[in-house]
Amino acid sequence: MSESDFENRTVLVTGGSRGIGRACCERLARAGAKVAINFRSRESDALETVALVEAAGSQAMLAQADVTDQQAVEAMVAEVNKQLGPIDMLVNNAGIFEYVTHETTTLDHWKRTIDANLTGLYIVTWAVKEQMIERKFGRIVNMSSISAMRPRPYGIAYAASKAGIIAFTQSAADALIPYNIRMNAVAPGLIETEIIDDVDRKTIDRIVNETPMKRIGTADEIADLVRFLLSEDSRFMMGQTLVASGGRVMLP
Ligand code: NAP
Repeated sequence: MSESDFENRTVLVTGGSRGIGRACCERLARAGAKVAINFRSRESDALETVALVEAAGSQAMLAQADVTDQQAVEAMVAEVNKQLGPIDMLVNNAGIFEYVTHETTTLDHWKRTIDANLTGLYIVTWAVKEQMIERKFGRIVNMSSISAMRPRPYGIAYAASKAGIIAFTQSAADALIPYNIRMNAVAPGLIETEIIDDVDRKTIDRIVNETPMKRIGTADEIADLVRFLLSEDSRFMMGQTLVASGGRVMLP
């Protein structure tokens, strides 16, 4: 494992203020990257991530923008360029999950979910890719979910958005590899973060019970995979989605 892959590299992590994104920021800072921490609204959380990155001995900056707002994202990317230099690596992690059944799914919920999880990922990637193309270097990891492969009778829009990310990753990886931009994705199973606060205890217990490893995953476990996919350790991989689900992906 070579941490030198991250020295003097600038990484932008969307949704870096808490949960999996925060763990990625800390992990990549420990590897030597300068980290731009994107968040939407919770600045105090993002400031805690800044402190963690700095404690890891690296440079951090706050990068506020709603990923669904193209103008705001373009302004954020310009600010990252000004403060930390060109963006070498991108972790498209920002996302939302709302626990809804088919009865409570509305068009508003559908649009909100697809916008935040899929359209936002497109907007950020497109705002960053030109500088990667110009410099003939880019490493991108997109956050999908096991929901894309092992659907449940709830969160239908969420599952659709996360399946879209897998298809996006395959096609965009193919289009961008001539410019040495290598893109992959991660599909976590259930991970202990705030996003699952909306899921009732009974459902969580049932998922844990049917998971061969009999536990929920941690944000650090996903951050390690993200680091791997951004590094040259994964140099022969592109367009792939790595699943980390304690074995749940093997279940029918
Ligand atoms: P989390 O703790 O709720 O964190 C979500 C992050 O996304 C926050 O930093 C939030 O920023 C940011 N965000 C949400 N909407 C945004 C927007 N429109 N623009 C910019 N930032 C936005 O959730 P998490 O579990 O760490 O989730 C991170 C990613 O992993 C998501 O894509 C999620 O779907 C995926 N995932 C999670 C699990 C799991 O079980 N936890 C499993 C599979 C996949 P603010 O705090 O400012 O709102």
